[in-house]
Amino acid sequence: MAIITPIETPPGVRKRIGLTCPATLESIGEIELCTAEDVYTAVDIAREAQPAWAALSFEERGKYMLRALKVLIERQDEFIDTILRETPRPRMESIQMDIFAACDSLHYYARKTARFLRPEKKKLHGVLGFSKTLRIVYRPLGVVGVISPWNGPFILSINPAIQALMAGNTVLIKPSSATPYSGKIIGDLFEAAGLPKGVLTVLLGDCITGEALIEAGVDKITFTGSVATGRKIAVACAERLIPCTLELGGKDPMIVCGDADLDYAAGGAVAGSLMNAGQYCCGTERVYVVDSIADEFIQKVVDRVSKLRQGTEGEFDVGAIITPQQMEIIEEHVADAIAKGAKVLTGGRRNPNLKGLYYEPTVLIDVTHDMLVMCEETFGPIVPIMRVRDEEEAITMANDSQYGLAANVWTRNKRKGYDIARRIDSGSVCVNDMAITYGAPEAPFGGWKNSGIGQYNGETGLKGYCHVQPILIDRFGGKQTANSYPYSTKKEIGFQKFVRFLWGNWIGRRISMLRLPI
Ligand code: NAD
Repeated sequence: MAIITPIETPPGVRKRIGLTCPATLESIGEIELCTAEDVYTAVDIAREAQPAWAALSFEERGKYMLRALKVLIERQDEFIDTILRETPRPRMESIQMDIFAACDSLHYYARKTARFLRPEKKKLHGVLGFSKTLRIVYRPLGVVGVISPWNGPFILSINPAIQALMAGNTVLIKPSSATPYSGKIIGDLFEAAGLPKGVLTVLLGDCITGEALIEAGVDKITFTGSVATGRKIAVACAERLIPCTLELGGKDPMIVCGDADLDYAAGGAVAGSLMNAGQYCCGTERVYVVDSIADEFIQKVVDRVSKLRQGTEGEFDVGAIITPQQMEIIEEHVADAIAKGAKVLTGGRRNPNLKGLYYEPTVLIDVTHDMLVMCEETFGPIVPIMRVRDEEEAITMANDSQYGLAANVWTRNKRKGYDIARRIDSGSVCVNDMAITYGAPEAPFGGWKNSGIGQYNGETGLKGYCHVQPILIDRFGGKQTANSYPYSTKKEIGFQKFVRFLWGNWIGRRISMLRLPI
C-alpha cells in the first residue's frame, strides 16, 4: 500500500491525500476523497440501476463477466503495474494473487451462477408434503457495499463484487485509501467490458467514506479488514439491520508432524510466512514443529530464508512493508520476542541496503505464547518456530488463539492430516499446502472466533448475496385453510388423535417422514 500524506484543503473542498510508494519512497499521485454526499448519490444511482440488472438472465450477466475477463487478460500488465505501484512485491505474486485469481473468479461465476441460483423445487416431508409443494427462489438483495483492505486490494474487492453482481445486485466498492488505484482499475475494467452505468461504482475514500456507505442504505456489506474496524462495521450494520460478512485478521498456525516431508514442509513454511512480505491474511504466522524433527526442519527453513532476495525491480522474492505503521508493529513484535528470550536465526531488522520500507525475512526460535509474535497478528516477513512435544501439543497450541482464519498441517499420512485439521478451530485448513482455500470457490471462505463472521465464495457466497425466499404452494387451491373455522372440541380431539397416530408408534413415524413426488 502506498504511504498516505494528508493534503491541506480549504473548507468546503473535497479532502485530498498524497500517496508515496513504500518501495521507492517516490510520489505516485494524489487522490480526491469522496464526500458523504458523493456516496449517497452513488448509492441512489446503484439502486436505480439494480432492477434492470437483476432482470437480465444469469447468462446475460455472465457475458459481461466474460468480456471483463477478456479485457483483464489483454491488459494484465497495465493492471499489474498499477497494483504494484501501491503494493510493491514480486510481479509473480501479483500475477498469482490478482490476475490468475480474478480471471478464475470472472470465468467461474459467469459459468456456475445459473446452476447455484436457479429456482429449486423441494419435497416437503409428512403432512405438509401431502398438501403443499415448495419452491425456493434466490432474490438479489439490492445494492451491496464492498469495503476492502490494502493488503490484497484488487482481488479482495473484485472477487466479492463479481459474486454480488452475478447474483443480480449492483455494487459499490470502497477500496482502502492506501490502495485507491487498485480499486479504481476495477471500475475501469468493467467500464471497458461495457457494464451498464451504475451497476458497479468505485468510491475512493477513507473511513469516513466507508461509514457513509453503510449509512447510505445499502442492503449488505462485505467487509475485509482488521478486527477493530470489523467490530465497528458490525455495530453500524446491526443498527440498520443489514447483513454483513466480516473477513478479519488472523494468526494462522502451521503444524509440522513428525512424519512430514521436511523439504516440502520447510518450503511451505517459507512461502506461507513470506508471501506478500507476510502481509497476507491467510499467511502462516506461527509454526509448531514436533521436537523429534525440529532441528532438521529449522535448518531447512533457515537455509531457504537466508537465500531470499529483496528488492524493488527485476527478479526478487520478498517485497516491501506497505505502511510505516505496519513496520512499527513488526519491529515491536520482534523486539518483544527477543526481550523475552527468542533467538533470531536470520534477519531480525530493517533491510539496511534498501531505502524503502523493507524488513529482512526473519526466522525466530525459542518463541512462546507470552510473546506478541505468537498471539497478535504480525503481518510481516517473520517465521516464528516453536518446538512441541507431539502433535497433540501442537493442536492445543494452534487453538490457543483469539483468531481462527486459516491453518495448515504437514504430514505424509493424509488421514492423520485430515484428523488433525478437523480439530483445529479455524475457518479453513490445508493439509500439505497453505492458504489455498481462498482460491477454491467450492470451499466456503471465512473466519472463526475473532477472524470474522460469515463466509463467501462459491455457492455459499452467491447465496449470501441473495434473500433465499421459500414459496409454499397449496396443491388443492387453499381448501384446507378455508375450512379451518369454526374450531370445535370435536376437531381438537380429532387432531390430538392424529398427533398420537403420527408420532406415537413406528408406522406413524414412518408416515410422518414420507415425501410425495413434487
Ligand atoms: P482496516 O480495518 O484498517 O481497513 C479496511 C477498510 O475499512 C478500508 O477500506 C478502510 O478505509 C475501511 N474503514 C476503516 N474504518 C471504517 C469505518 N469505521 N467504517 C467503514 N469503513 C471503514 O484494515 P487494513 O489495515 O486495510 O487491512 C489489514 C487487515 O485486514 C489485517 O488485519 C488483515 O488480516 C485483514 N484481512 C483479512 C482478510 C480475510 O479474508 N479475513 C483478507 C485480507 C486482509
